Amino acid sequence: MHVILPDSSELELPEGATGLDAAAAIGPKLAEQAVLVRSNGAVQDLRLPLEEGQEIQILTTRDREDPDALHVLRHSTAHLLAEAVRKLYPGVKIAIGPPIENGFYYDFQFPESIAEDALERIEEEIRRELAEGRSWQREQISREEALERFAAEGEPYKVELVDTAEGEISLYTQGEFTDLCRGPHLQNSKPIKAVKLTGLAGAYWRGDESNTQLTRIYGTAFYSEEDLKAHLERLEEARKRDHRRLGVQLDLVHLSDHAPGMPFWHPKGMVVWNALEDLRRRENASRGYVEVKTPLLYDVETWKTSGHWEKFRDDMFLVPYGEERTLGMKPMNCPGHMLLFGSDLRSYRDLPLRYAESSTLHRNERAGTLHGLLRVQHVTQDDGHIFCSPDQIEEEIFGCLDYAKYVYDIFDMEARFELSTRPENKLGTDEEWDFTEGALRAALDRRDLEYELNEGDGAFYGPKIDLHMTDVLGRSWQMGTIQLDSQMPARFELTYMGPDNVEHTPYVVHRALFGSLERFIGILIEHYGGAFPVWLAPIQVRIVPVGEDHREASRALADKLSAYRVEVDDSDETVGKRIRNAELEKIPYVVVYGDRESENSLAVRKRGGERSSLSLDELLRELVAKV
Ligand SMILES: [Zn+2]
Ligand SMILES: [Zn+2]
Repeated sequence: MHVILPDSSELELPEGATGLDAAAAIGPKLAEQAVLVRSNGAVQDLRLPLEEGQEIQILTTRDREDPDALHVLRHSTAHLLAEAVRKLYPGVKIAIGPPIENGFYYDFQFPESIAEDALERIEEEIRRELAEGRSWQREQISREEALERFAAEGEPYKVELVDTAEGEISLYTQGEFTDLCRGPHLQNSKPIKAVKLTGLAGAYWRGDESNTQLTRIYGTAFYSEEDLKAHLERLEEARKRDHRRLGVQLDLVHLSDHAPGMPFWHPKGMVVWNALEDLRRRENASRGYVEVKTPLLYDVETWKTSGHWEKFRDDMFLVPYGEERTLGMKPMNCPGHMLLFGSDLRSYRDLPLRYAESSTLHRNERAGTLHGLLRVQHVTQDDGHIFCSPDQIEEEIFGCLDYAKYVYDIFDMEARFELSTRPENKLGTDEEWDFTEGALRAALDRRDLEYELNEGDGAFYGPKIDLHMTDVLGRSWQMGTIQLDSQMPARFELTYMGPDNVEHTPYVVHRALFGSLERFIGILIEHYGGAFPVWLAPIQVRIVPVGEDHREASRALADKLSAYRVEVDDSDETVGKRIRNAELEKIPYVVVYGDRESENSLAVRKRGGERSSLSLDELLRELVAKV
């Protein structure tokens, strides 16, 4: 038989050869270092037979940053964790242990609950296993045999997993530990050079709150010590930048159980909020949007018409109204905008009609999913709905993309675009989809944007472009979305009179660029580490008078800087302490005013430590350039 290697050359192998055989046929070194076979994007265990004509890539310990290579390493380490826990805690029951982004976990039911300090001991045991060395054997057995085996071992979770497993049952064994597992796994534990258990958490069996609560142990593993070190440093940096911590430290925002998932914005947080709102409002106006305001509550019949009732009912807050009616708080603005469009006769001359609304939406999120500002129940979206005719779609999508690029560039975040196309359960004909997908592609190409294609990932009512940003720590966030829709206008029976004197259904582009303002600010806090650019900084200049004698001159100076957000700190603290406070608050400019200072010569400390002597005019010029 033949397989095809990444350089397109063919490799001849005996019938039934495995990935490992293929690696050995190329060279003994490769066979030793091999960790995984990848074939057309799918991963395959080295122990499994290859097929005639299969395109294969053999990943090795050198692919130490490849996500698939890291996955197999971490999955194998999860099995080592289970072996260690079984040895240290007789009577423990094991559940599941998959690799995840940045690491792995394993869920256990401990006979007695364990605390964080147990992790060190478990980690020690894993190190002992690694020093001893482990190799993995794969076997395939019948369902009956697997059930018997795990029942005999007293592993009820595994029995349940076998019961509900689809396809073949495979086991992997290392040392004295056998796990029900689809794999793939490493050949042996040699490539695992660094392991760290990172935390404990509660987790329900199968994610269902009515099931037993298990203990989840998180960990991570790498192909080298340096990689682990770099990872831990990144985590530390992320911890320092955590918006929940910085939000309180910088006096911007806090959350409280009085209103779960609904932030309390402090005066300084509102400065940031309003700066973003001003940006949105200014750009909307210059890009031909009209601002509207629609109700927060609608009769559930409206949600039935829009289709939200079917898909979104569990995520909506409902309010009884009178004897018989129920109102639903809006989780989205679309229906309000549909009703507004439909409230008057429309002609093709009115199109495109671009509605913008920044109003508060409510989403009833499941307990446990709330996370600071990143996942809230009280969502303020910079929403827009563009009603247009088919021939206007491309131009409107182009406009949205241009707008998105403009906004993201302001924050020095790298933008990424993903186009999602027709799903299997699509509404409408292939011809219609050819047309709408074509319009989105054309707009992306015309704006000269590279994009990833997610085939089949579009909404059932139309294709969409998702907008992602990569922050300073290299983390990717989905921000906005641009979605084309022909269904909701039809459900609301919206029409416009065409030039042909016939009524047509408009298309609608749903678009949000910040996404949720709450989440966007949360991401910005972490992206900037709280050190906002001057235009967003809640306080832009702080003046620190050295002594009582300097207070008056400091206040006069503040008046001359009044176009900016300026403050005089004349508290009784020492000068050093007041400067330090300004640094902790990450204020971009601190002016220390003493005997030697005058408007011709100001002692200015910039955030980051740079000190200079500037005249008032020079300082003003610098501020103008940054705001
Ligand atoms: Zn496994
Ligand atoms: Zn919408």
